[in-house]
Amino acid sequence: MDHASDPAGGEEFTRLRAMFAQSPSFSALLQGPEHRFVLTNPAYQQLIGHRDVIGLTVREAVPEVENQGFFELLDEVFTSGKAFIGRDVEIVLRRAPQGGKETRYLDFVYQPIKDEQGTVVSIFVEGTDATERHLTEEAHKASEARLRELNATLERRVVGRAQARSLTWQLSPDLLGALNSNGYFETSNPAWQTILGWSEADVASMSIFELLHPDDVEHTRAGFELTLVGQPAIRFANRYRCKDGSYRWISWVGIQEDGFVYCTGRDITAERAAEIELATAQESLRQSQKMEAIGQLTGGIAHDFNNLLTGIIGALDLTRNRMAKGQSEDIPRFMDAASACAQRAAALTHRLLAFARRQPLNTKPNDINHIVANMEELLHRTLGEQIELQTALAGDLWTAFTDANQLENAVLNLAINARDAMPSGGRLTVETENTQLDSAYTSLHNDVEPGEYVVVSVSDTGTGMHPDVVAKALDPFFTTKPMGEGTGLGLSTIYGFIKQSRGHLRIYSELGFGTTVKLYLPRAVQTAVSPHAPTLATPRGQGETILIVEDDTTVRLIMSDALKDLGYEVLEASDARPAIPLLQSERRIDLMVSDVVLPHIDGKKLAEIARAARPDLRILFVTGYAQNAAFRGDFLDPGMDMLTKPFALDALAARVRMLIEE
Ligand code: ADP
Ligand code: MG
Repeated sequence: MDHASDPAGGEEFTRLRAMFAQSPSFSALLQGPEHRFVLTNPAYQQLIGHRDVIGLTVREAVPEVENQGFFELLDEVFTSGKAFIGRDVEIVLRRAPQGGKETRYLDFVYQPIKDEQGTVVSIFVEGTDATERHLTEEAHKASEARLRELNATLERRVVGRAQARSLTWQLSPDLLGALNSNGYFETSNPAWQTILGWSEADVASMSIFELLHPDDVEHTRAGFELTLVGQPAIRFANRYRCKDGSYRWISWVGIQEDGFVYCTGRDITAERAAEIELATAQESLRQSQKMEAIGQLTGGIAHDFNNLLTGIIGALDLTRNRMAKGQSEDIPRFMDAASACAQRAAALTHRLLAFARRQPLNTKPNDINHIVANMEELLHRTLGEQIELQTALAGDLWTAFTDANQLENAVLNLAINARDAMPSGGRLTVETENTQLDSAYTSLHNDVEPGEYVVVSVSDTGTGMHPDVVAKALDPFFTTKPMGEGTGLGLSTIYGFIKQSRGHLRIYSELGFGTTVKLYLPRAVQTAVSPHAPTLATPRGQGETILIVEDDTTVRLIMSDALKDLGYEVLEASDARPAIPLLQSERRIDLMVSDVVLPHIDGKKLAEIARAARPDLRILFVTGYAQNAAFRGDFLDPGMDMLTKPFALDALAARVRMLIEE
């Protein structure tokens, strides 16, 4: 290689220079062990920033490359004679005379050029600036790494989701799903179908606000908004509509992530129903206990008043009889008795709370339509002109067990309440019907047994009651009426009577529209006995002897006078002790009239003693109270009857006659 050994001149060199000049690669020829620049092409010039380097050693020409290993490498190639091929080698150099340092990446060859003896005389440098490629590759590598990482996590997530879907998702008895911020469950698991009947597509097509019970929309919307801003929902309960239209209670846990609320929902319908049933049962137990207490209270009051009224009514009856007969000499005595009773009634108000006994009921099969029909005239008068009265009586009404007087009293009280609720007029409807209460109904109202009932409904078109008023209406002394107009004892007393009849009472009221109170009376299978058997004339005695055992002097006096008036012989005893010798004697006694509650020996015991001596003796019990309604049935043997105070003397006369003639 002659030209190489003499690079500075010659034709070959010129050709080489021309070739170098056009090459896109950078090239340079470095001569001698100091690597003096002999030749550079434009590409090389560009690489080193167009410096004038010809004749300079590399150490002089590109001093900034000191310590980057290039000079040592050239020395090594020069001494060893072995070429060096570098790829993507970093170099930091100045690319403009006054510019800063710059990092480039080069692919290059240091090719030793030898003379005929094989001695290295120069080094040919040839290479390309691979910086762009290097950066692209780096970027590519980086993005690949990111992608790899991304893929790895994606893979993990996919694996995680797939597992969740395949196991928990498919098998979970709970509702699972991802709820988007618009309130749509974009995904939902098969439990939705099992519990609510909705397929995944059904669920995705409806917003939760379409699925929710209307009453639950508002609080759910508020809760949902909180969950969307990061507050987890924990045991959030609401009702979802099933495909069949029913609703189920669901308790939710939901957590927001990436704009979705991930939810699990448990069906708690059964627990809810049990809770509600328990609460209702407790409430109704509490209510009936309260009523029980007051039933005893009002029963006790009634008992005392009945005694007093018996005295007053009797005295007035007798006064009228005497006046009719023109016998005025006894009248002051009767007036005194009546007045004493009235005084005692006044004193009674001070002892109200001391009484806690019940009014006995004369409960027997009754024709309810007959009772209601008989009241029409009275109701008309009570309601006045402004209120229209309607009755709707069922044609095939069963007979019902009740006390006719109490029922009349109840209907009258309900009519008065209705009138008060319709100050500017309206319509009052009294209806009767047969009904069946099943165990589903009675389980919610623990004060009533399943079975057949006759219902008496009293409806008005009045003001109605707020639910708070309905809740308290049966409470004794609860009234919304001004002082002096309401006692608050109307409905509570009716409730007490209905309970004693083994019946049931319900109030339905719509504020602004009206109220219906329904009285349920147990069906009687026996035939009805007319409650008001008409008495043509007061039946008179024919000299029969009646023994009266009564500790209340006024009542005894009244009865004895009345019976003597009717033509009976009368024997009197203030309690059992004077009565027993009479009963065990040979004296004629056709009938014993006895109080039930007597000092020392009660009426029932006395009746046993009497029957032991006189097995056929007729006995009429007179009573103001008894512990319960069943009392009557347990108490009475054939040839016995019971009369409840207060009674009209006519009623006493009729019972006495009936027993004697039986
Ligand atoms: P009182 O009539 O003495 O107030 P009640 O026990 O009869 O006592 O009734 C209690 C309350 O129930 C009444 O004060 C009234 O607020 C409400 N009420 C009862 N019946 C009706 C009705 N038919 N319409 C509207 N409110 C009623
Ligand atoms: Mg009332």
